[in-house]
Amino acid sequence: MKRYTREEVKSMTPQDYESTICRELNTAGYRTEFQGKTMEYEPDPCVFGGDIVFHPDAVNYLKKIGLIDNGKCPMCCEREDDLICKLQSMHSGAEYHVCKPCYKQYAQEEREKRGCRCCIITLVIILLAFYVVSTLLR
Ligand SMILES: [Zn+2]
Repeated sequence: MKRYTREEVKSMTPQDYESTICRELNTAGYRTEFQGKTMEYEPDPCVFGGDIVFHPDAVNYLKKIGLIDNGKCPMCCEREDDLICKLQSMHSGAEYHVCKPCYKQYAQEEREKRGCRCCIITLVIILLAFYVVSTLLR
């Protein structure tokens, strides 16, 4: 098993980085699933955020070999601001570090999703209260 150094990771172009991530996962036997089919990881700019992040084992493996949390942001494949912005996937619980702009973007999206859920919960409570009041008044 090769372990990448921070310098090696930093000097990769975004394309190199994507294809190295996919190659290492494929070599280690990790596979992705798409519409019920098991497939190898294909390099593309969304492969991390849209796919790998849903598989905590794959994320941990990339951490172990030094491809993430090691000088590059896996979201934009460019930079990482020294491990200060930690994200945790709401879906898989996988934890990883990203650069500040990606962190802000993701945090905002999550806030919007949560905000939406809060609205629905409030609406349900209001409807329930309304139902209770109208049954009591009958
Ligand atoms: Zn980024």
